[in-house]
Amino acid sequence: MDKATKTAAPTDGKPAKKAGPAKLSPMMERYREVKSQNPGSLLLFRMGDFYELFYEDAEVASKVLGLTLTARDKGSANPTAMAGFPYHSLENYLHKLIRAGYRAAICEQVEDPKKAKGLVKREVTQVVTPGTLTDEALLDPRESNYLASVFVGKSLVGLSWLELSTGKFLTSELELSQLPDELARLRPAEILVSENPAREEELLPALNLRGMVVSQRPPWAFAADQCRKRLVEHFQLKTLEGFDLEENSPGVVAAGALLEYVQETQKSSLSHIVRLEPLRRGGNLIIDEATRASLELTRTLREGRREGSLLDIIDETVSPMGARLLAEWLSNPLTEIKQIDARLDAVEEFSLDAVLCRGIRDELSKVYDLQRLTAKVATLRASPRDLGCLARTLALLPKLKAKLSGRGAELLKLLEADLDLCAEVRADVELNLVDDPPLLTTDGGMIRSGFDAKLDELRELARGGKAWIAKYQAAEMERTGIPNLKVGFNKVFGYYLEVTAAHWSKVPDDYIRKQTLKNQERYITPELKEYEDKVLRAEDESKLLEAELFTALREQVAAHVTRLKNTAEVLAEIDVLCGLATLASANGYCRPQLCVEPVLDIREGRHPVLDKLQPTGEFVPNDVLLGMPADDDGRASRGRVQIITGPNMAGKSTYIRQAALLTVMAQMGSFVPASEARIGIADRVFARVGASDELGKGQSTFMVEMTETARILNTATARSLVILDEIGRGTSTYDGISLAWAVTEFLHDSIKCRTLFATHYHELTDLTATLKHASNWNVAVHEQGDGIVFLHRIVEGAADKSYGIHVARLAGVPSQVVQRATVILETLEADHLNEEGRPTVPARRKKGGEKQLSLFVVEEHPVFDEIRNLKIDEMTPLAALEELNRIRQQLKR
Ligand code: ADP
Repeated sequence: MDKATKTAAPTDGKPAKKAGPAKLSPMMERYREVKSQNPGSLLLFRMGDFYELFYEDAEVASKVLGLTLTARDKGSANPTAMAGFPYHSLENYLHKLIRAGYRAAICEQVEDPKKAKGLVKREVTQVVTPGTLTDEALLDPRESNYLASVFVGKSLVGLSWLELSTGKFLTSELELSQLPDELARLRPAEILVSENPAREEELLPALNLRGMVVSQRPPWAFAADQCRKRLVEHFQLKTLEGFDLEENSPGVVAAGALLEYVQETQKSSLSHIVRLEPLRRGGNLIIDEATRASLELTRTLREGRREGSLLDIIDETVSPMGARLLAEWLSNPLTEIKQIDARLDAVEEFSLDAVLCRGIRDELSKVYDLQRLTAKVATLRASPRDLGCLARTLALLPKLKAKLSGRGAELLKLLEADLDLCAEVRADVELNLVDDPPLLTTDGGMIRSGFDAKLDELRELARGGKAWIAKYQAAEMERTGIPNLKVGFNKVFGYYLEVTAAHWSKVPDDYIRKQTLKNQERYITPELKEYEDKVLRAEDESKLLEAELFTALREQVAAHVTRLKNTAEVLAEIDVLCGLATLASANGYCRPQLCVEPVLDIREGRHPVLDKLQPTGEFVPNDVLLGMPADDDGRASRGRVQIITGPNMAGKSTYIRQAALLTVMAQMGSFVPASEARIGIADRVFARVGASDELGKGQSTFMVEMTETARILNTATARSLVILDEIGRGTSTYDGISLAWAVTEFLHDSIKCRTLFATHYHELTDLTATLKHASNWNVAVHEQGDGIVFLHRIVEGAADKSYGIHVARLAGVPSQVVQRATVILETLEADHLNEEGRPTVPARRKKGGEKQLSLFVVEEHPVFDEIRNLKIDEMTPLAALEELNRIRQQLKR
């Protein structure tokens, strides 16, 4: 259904053309069987040192991966299309396939080919999909990679999401209309939906988001009862009530369907998924999709990149776990003052103690991605090197814990208490593994000597055997007089003696010839073979034993997954708090004071991104004063609506965005770029960028703008913060002004929220004449020689109307033209004004019909009063008719 979904070629492994009489080989039979068990995935079939793809899969792979398309059984009537790559390039090719939106089933040889009787056994060990990546080589360490699942229930929609690489698993319930915003916040790599979802026509557009792959699942995967059962079994519970989840609710169904998919694709333990958290709304600042985009919170608007976004600018974390948590905090700011203050207390404490903060960051910068390592342990995919990294990370904890002790902030005390050193885990690993363990479990060299007596013995034997071979080579050289006699080794016949042509005459009789090459001959001797057996056997056995010991160790560590996960979360949080403290100190941010009153009182505020990108000191700070009583500190009006006028490029957008960004930052628990800030908690932030930047895109852009505007008007509350930038610009001037005018009135009168409206429509400044809580602001400009300099300073009052003509004069437009333009401007202005010199926009009526005194008073016709005063119940029908006729005559006059 979704174009983004790319399932593999719809083959079940059968040859494209009708198979001829030739029977398939047993291996190709197996291929077909496995392929049919994994529909919708490209099958990577391990054959020796290669992964091969066949039939249509091979064609896809050759296109997507640039592999050469060859054929198996070339000579036969039905050659099979084939493409492959060496096993060690798996990561690289998988990455490309997944990024292109494909899924891949990896079919491995699950027994040692040397020991196999007949065909080597092959099984799919993992299906890799965009949302189920766990391999760090395929993941961006700083980003969460979510798999989401959507279930449309009778009234609410269940949305569940999981980060498989860390085991974080959540579920929520929401209105279908809220789904796009939630998905925009999470940006899942893959979304699961039923093939046959309820309210399909409404659901599909909601899923149609950039860069997300939609995977359809059979309807049974969403069967409520099964879903509940699956979750209960996984978490080994009797009911889900402990997670505060209502059985059979849409959120549970979505989570159950998600778990099914993960079990199906991973085919491994999922013991790191230890809980399912319901996400309750209410405790968070709601930021819709369009606002997220226009504020460039985690991505830039144009290029969709992290670089240049607010997240990028405020990210001072030193670990990937911290970077991911910071992104989560920023995407999900809080609304509870207590919770925010808890974070701010911690940030403040770190920011006041630079030495401590630096010390902690130094330690944190050495930790590995404990969250992802833990998940690998749980899924039994951790390599020896992974366990080595885990132990090294745990080894840093005692010092970190010591640094955290004795802190004043409650949150830091809590984190310190929660930081579990997992000392036994560390001891187990350190005791078992060498200091720098290898990547593979198969080649040995990972278990520390002295740990297992049997292993030491085997190793000694293997090493001794090798020494013997060296000695043997020397002795044979002497016995035969062949100076360059050499003992070599190959896979086919093991150890051999190699003699070059010049010395063939000296070869003794007891040498058994095995191979003749161009210039050399290779021999074996019974003595050599005997030792070879010993060495190789010992080596093989020691490797096997090492693998066994390692597996046991990994299982031992896996028993502590929950503790390791908690510790990883603590590390992430400390990293974020230290990072925010560093950000605050390095850039002169202040601690915001949060309050319930809907005010915004920011002194010398700066736009965090521009401030950092511009050379120090170049950004011009501005105050933002909204919603405060006028007499608060003797300054001018402090209404809750500000209309900011001024020419393009003056700094209007920057100023209004800055207000929204600082609010978001404060509510996530960060200090803000200002000298002082008092911020009333917002329940929602709305930001709309008008069509100004996209003029020329036509009607549809305007439609989008109006749809978004409609949404603000329908959902904003008195506690919200709304910033509007050039709303109404995508249509004709009159339309645009009228809409902007009416929208502002509505926000001011009905919603009563804090609003910043940037516009270059000068007409809108007249709004303040009728709107009690609105004020005009503009951007100061300075004439300098023959040019104008934008001071980027926001000052109270409306912008100069004839600014454009001003610029024309300065630019050297002949004075005759300038004068004429001034006259035309005056005429145009006059046209918009009534006799009293006020703009000609119709009057509004207040609720209850009471006449409102406004600038655009239109006199009411006297007949209205006459009608109002009629005593209808005392009149005969005829008298009423006569009266009606009289009124009609009167109106005709
Ligand atoms: P407008 O919305 O009025 O068209 P912008 O807010 O987009 O203008 O600002 C235009 C440019 O002016 C910005 O890209 C930035 O380079 C600069 N600018 C804006 N505000 C400031 C400021 N306060 N200090 C320094 N430069 C600023």
